[in-house]
Amino acid sequence: MKYSQMLGRTTKNASADNASINGQLLTRAGFISKQISGVYNYLPLGLKTLNKITQIVRQEMDRAGAQEVLMPAMTGLESWTITNRQNMDVLFHLEGRDDSHLVLNPTHEEVVTPLVQQTVLSYRDLPKAVFQIQNKFRNEPRAKSGLLRGREFLMKDLYSFHQDQADLDAYYEKMKQVYFKVYERLGLKDVTLLTFASGGAFSKYSHEFQLLSEVGEDTIFVCENCKIAINKEIIADQSICPECGNTNLVSKQAIEVGNIFKLGTRFSEAFNFHYTSENGEAKLIIMGCYGIGISRLMGTIVEIFHDDKGIIWPDQIAPFSVHLISLPGGEEKAEQLYRQLQDLQIEVLWDDRKESAGTKFADADLIGIPTRLVISARTGENVEYKRRNEETSEVISTEEAINRIKTHVSKL
Ligand code: ATP
Ligand code: MG
Repeated sequence: MKYSQMLGRTTKNASADNASINGQLLTRAGFISKQISGVYNYLPLGLKTLNKITQIVRQEMDRAGAQEVLMPAMTGLESWTITNRQNMDVLFHLEGRDDSHLVLNPTHEEVVTPLVQQTVLSYRDLPKAVFQIQNKFRNEPRAKSGLLRGREFLMKDLYSFHQDQADLDAYYEKMKQVYFKVYERLGLKDVTLLTFASGGAFSKYSHEFQLLSEVGEDTIFVCENCKIAINKEIIADQSICPECGNTNLVSKQAIEVGNIFKLGTRFSEAFNFHYTSENGEAKLIIMGCYGIGISRLMGTIVEIFHDDKGIIWPDQIAPFSVHLISLPGGEEKAEQLYRQLQDLQIEVLWDDRKESAGTKFADADLIGIPTRLVISARTGENVEYKRRNEETSEVISTEEAINRIKTHVSKL
């Protein structure tokens, strides 16, 4: 992609969204544009990044045997009355033409439970796991932190259906590992903390995946031996590490980027969802749900990986692998390298504008693509190579630069 043709430009003015670092940097760098509070447009750079996160999440859910579906964003209020959640404070309400009362779904238990009920009849149909990657709508009281708390936001939600508690328990443990794999692939291995949170009626705990950040809304107590944490909401009855008994827990702020929860029979009871067991009995289905906040992850990654110049994307989810800058006298060679990188399937953003070197460098730092290549009259047959997260640049041969880029890309 040539930067001169791209929709969305860098701007010094982030006044439209200056309440958070992620909102500010993503707006200034041309990734997102605020529509109304908590609702955003994703421009080409932003959508590419969001799609990278989505794709990693999707691949790992597929690999775990879950089936992707797409459920509707709106449904009738009746579904919410069945589960007695019609008064949930975050529900957005709509009026249909025929006086029907509709809501925009903030989560999908009310849709997925009767949907799966249509085809899961006996123990032979179990277990089942379905997921979707879709926009959720919540009338949040505090939509103010860029992508961290939206009123419309992208979530992966997965629901599992089981014959008995043991089967749910085993699946739940498996999903925990799948989640770790997702966060590892997103470049977040060292900063993700499994956090014990309150479990509701059907299990003592649920689990959250928290990323440490000063701006996080959650207070968690971290066990530095086990690399796990406990959410403050349950600390009253659990002030020691549930894994190792450590009582020396450290209070930190964190952002919840995912959670897994045993629903038990909460929803199967409401919808009267039974299956026929092996010996012919009608039994209630046992459920679990598993969320990942995809757009929140994008914002959180910016909160964690940035410096005073801009964003520093992990290789895995950067919108492009290479930010190619041509300076006067280097245009022709830059065009050659641009084509060469494209032929090698290496994603490249070429800043082909007639702007000063200073402007182009500042924009590259702001946008945060992991590898910067500069070609000018002075670089000759070589190219100036710099990683966004390193201070110094080197002048190396084009082949060497391509080899280095390939090693970063192949680790994905
Ligand atoms: P929170 O405690 O932050 O309000 P939650 O516990 O209500 O979130 P879930 O309903 O379990 O969240 O949603 C699954 C995931 O979706 C969360 O772990 C979070 O990453 C993300 N998420 C929840 N609410 C929002 C929101 N308003 N904007 C962006 N992402 C969100
Ligand atoms: Mg929560």
